[in-house]
Amino acid sequence: VPELPEVEAYAQIFARHAVGRTIARVRVLDDRVLAIRKSTLTKALVGKQFTSVRRHGKHLFAQAGDAWLRLHFGMSGDLTAGVERFARVVFDFDDGTCVAFDDMRLFGVVDVVRDPDDFIRERGLGPDPLAIGVREFRKRLAGKRGGIKAVLLSQEAIAGVGNLYADETLFRAGVHPSRPADKLTDAEVKSIFSTLRRVLADAIAGRRRGVMVEEREEGARCGRCGGTVRRAVVAGRTTYFCASHQK
Ligand SMILES: [Zn+2]
Repeated sequence: VPELPEVEAYAQIFARHAVGRTIARVRVLDDRVLAIRKSTLTKALVGKQFTSVRRHGKHLFAQAGDAWLRLHFGMSGDLTAGVERFARVVFDFDDGTCVAFDDMRLFGVVDVVRDPDDFIRERGLGPDPLAIGVREFRKRLAGKRGGIKAVLLSQEAIAGVGNLYADETLFRAGVHPSRPADKLTDAEVKSIFSTLRRVLADAIAGRRRGVMVEEREEGARCGRCGGTVRRAVVAGRTTYFCASHQK
């Protein structure tokens, strides 16, 4: 599942292969990923140049004239420079190159919005964790009654944290996923925030990807304290945690 680090990689692909290029044609190969009419998408983009790209949580926005293309990668979305097997929408440029939105399972979204900030506000999305400091993070947790994992996943306190990175962050920070968010100590909030940023930065750098997933298995020995890794449903999601060191 594409999470924040993957979407950051897609933003980099987009910057390299689409920004600065003029859109000659938009090919919709499967309109089930469209959040808008095909004609609206085409009219907004054809003849325009992509001038910038930005990521907020798991959303990618790319400016073209006075419109912004919005991509969300759902469960299996991908962005490729070239047409792959599950390409759903292809953006052809006037220099003969293209980028394609790929999505096998069709939970992704291709959309056009007027203003990303309006979209973020209307959706009630919190700030991106890589764009804020610990003071803002602490403010976003204030008054949130739910367990810390549920709050991290909600997208309202901060945007873009999914199941894998929430578990990894709380494991490394030694905080139990069910702990009420508004009852955490200052030191714990600080630790969760700095750990989250490190986990995301590591994943973006590609150093830790894959390794983290293998680390957690029910009944396995915790690599940190020798305790037993447990599996439970927290915030409606399968959660792996160590009951010994995550308090
Ligand atoms: Zn442990």
